[in-house]
Amino acid sequence: MENVIIIGGGTAGLSAAVYTARAQLTPVVFRGDQPGGQITLTDSLENYPGFPDGISGFGLYQALEQQAVRFGAKVISDTVQAVEFTNHPFTVVARENEYKARAVIIASGSNPRTLNVPGEKEYVGKGVSYCATCDGFFYRGKSVVVVGGGDSALDEGLFLTRFASRVTIIHRRDRLRANPHLQQRAFENEKVEFIWDTVVEEVLGDDKVKGVRLKNVKSEELSEFPTDGVFVFVGHIPNTSIFEGIIDMDDRKTIITDKRQQTNIAGVFAAGDVQDPIYRQAITSAGTGAIAAMEAEKFIASLEGKSYPGKL
Ligand code: NAP
Repeated sequence: MENVIIIGGGTAGLSAAVYTARAQLTPVVFRGDQPGGQITLTDSLENYPGFPDGISGFGLYQALEQQAVRFGAKVISDTVQAVEFTNHPFTVVARENEYKARAVIIASGSNPRTLNVPGEKEYVGKGVSYCATCDGFFYRGKSVVVVGGGDSALDEGLFLTRFASRVTIIHRRDRLRANPHLQQRAFENEKVEFIWDTVVEEVLGDDKVKGVRLKNVKSEELSEFPTDGVFVFVGHIPNTSIFEGIIDMDDRKTIITDKRQQTNIAGVFAAGDVQDPIYRQAITSAGTGAIAAMEAEKFIASLEGKSYPGKL
């Protein structure tokens, strides 16, 4: 029997682990297939408070995990496959084992949204990528396109200018969603150019990517644009499939919580991208992780009828 199981080892999950571990609850964290989550895909976090010179995404993940483990969190490299929340204690089924827990914090994050166009799936690893930090290096001196107009597209596009000779940002509208600071940096960068009002209809190539077929959404004109790489940054989809029919979600499959990070099931909390369709920042993930942890602690204490720490 565990006190708290935390599903996900990204910023939200590890922040919840630091707090629940400090409360002597010995949390168990399932870090899944992508330890550290989305931040590890970010080269440098420049807006995480406390790091005036920025910190690498991977560096922040490692520091958070070390901190959680130092206070007694158990981090398990396994993925949760199913949950059963109708009876208490709750059941969490991982690949290797089944666990019981008094409280659960869902921090399973999100995955990049795909374009769903012909050629995209086929060329993953052969020119189509969702991670500039992981794959940018392979495009030294080459030309790449970036699809999207949000913070990720511009942030990652600017990162790609370190390697690529030309970065063409293809956006479906004529105005960017990204914050003004990133927009200014992109507009000022000589390697960055934009194609507006345009969507990618197909990824073209032979054994690797050679170009994209484009459609101007205003004129409906079709064209082909040669490129060596296609980097897709068109938002994210929350990792909530195992909670469908169990935990309440909105129409975008984002988990619904109250201000205390409580889901529709007492004792099950959610934190980070899995419950946040708006802010999706490392700092907000850390914040909601901390709130979920404090509420889980209170929930466990209420079960015992006494304040925690105490004998369970
Ligand atoms: P986002 O803000 O949702 O932007 C997604 C972009 O992709 C939008 O420009 C959208 O176009 C476009 N798009 C969506 N579906 C598309 C499709 N099927 N085909 C073509 N284009 C499509 O996602 P994000 O950029 O990943 O950012 C997510 C969150 O993380 C935001 O809150 C952002 O602030 C945060 N973030 C912050 C930083 C930073 O602070 N440095 C860095 C990365 C991310 P429309 O504009 O037309 O909707």
